[in-house]
Amino acid sequence: MAIRKVLHYGEPSLREVSKEVHKVSKKITDLVRDLLDTMYSQNGVGLAAPQIGENVRVFVIDVSTGNEPLNPMVFINPKIIKKSGAIKSNEGCLSFPEAYTDVRRYKNVMVKATNEHGKPFVLEAKDGSLLARAIQHENDHLDGILFIDHCINRFETDAVLEKYNLPHIDPDLLVEEKNLEEELAGND
Ligand code: ZN
Repeated sequence: MAIRKVLHYGEPSLREVSKEVHKVSKKITDLVRDLLDTMYSQNGVGLAAPQIGENVRVFVIDVSTGNEPLNPMVFINPKIIKKSGAIKSNEGCLSFPEAYTDVRRYKNVMVKATNEHGKPFVLEAKDGSLLARAIQHENDHLDGILFIDHCINRFETDAVLEKYNLPHIDPDLLVEEKNLEEELAGND
């Protein structure tokens, strides 16, 4: 299909809440292929539709990180139905070229979604695995939430953003996650 342009942090559509998919139509399966092509072209682990300017609830993940066999996973209308534990995760994002920072994530998640064939599925990802963290990161994109909103240190993160000429953190958009904060503090 096509490699699409990935929007960078600062583009308003990255902050929008995306719409539910009502039918896995050809338009949606084409979008899924574009997401996969674009993600692989940039060696990404995940990509969400709003990152290519389509505000619909679709994302793709492949945690094989370029090693054969590839393992593309498609999530349409995903919902995280269970989450537990806390973990510190060093993350980047294709919408934030080269910028990485430490964020708070749940260690374990259970997600319910529909695949590209219109078939519903439930998936559990545990132990702070790349998959568990990627699901949370990509799912957030569908609600206009970005990884930096979960940052552990706002000032360090701002310094990284500045280095790569990206806009600063919006303090009003930081996610309140006292439970994760406390659990991470307890782990130290
Ligand atoms: Zn991202």
